[in-house]
Amino acid sequence: MRFTDWPGTGTARCGDTTLLGWPCLNYELIGIGYCLHHCPDELLAEAEALCGYKRCRKCRQFAVKGSDPPRCKRHGCNRGSMQRRNADMRATAIEIAEQALGLRKRVKKRGIPVERLRRAG
Ligand SMILES: [Zn+2]
Ligand SMILES: [Zn+2]
Repeated sequence: MRFTDWPGTGTARCGDTTLLGWPCLNYELIGIGYCLHHCPDELLAEAEALCGYKRCRKCRQFAVKGSDPPRCKRHGCNRGSMQRRNADMRATAIEIAEQALGLRKRVKKRGIPVERLRRAG
């Protein structure tokens, strides 16, 4: 996944270096100064809110969507694990909620009263 596709990123590069000592090529999150991987812990909640993704609390990798507390595949959210199953269930619930929200927005745009939609569905 390219970081540039994420919401909340600016045009400047992240100010940190990778494990090998190379400059990090990800774009910084606006107001954070770092990408999600290199964001300091005290700014992590803000960074996650900006881009909509979570970071594993044990390392700097992406957390599995829906995991709580956020965990990557190597830190408890591997396929088949209990944590992963819970995370998948939560992620599905979030997706359904987002779809419902999107539907309401579209309906509003077209000017169809929500009441009528409710009766029909
Ligand atoms: Zn970075
Ligand atoms: Zn991890």
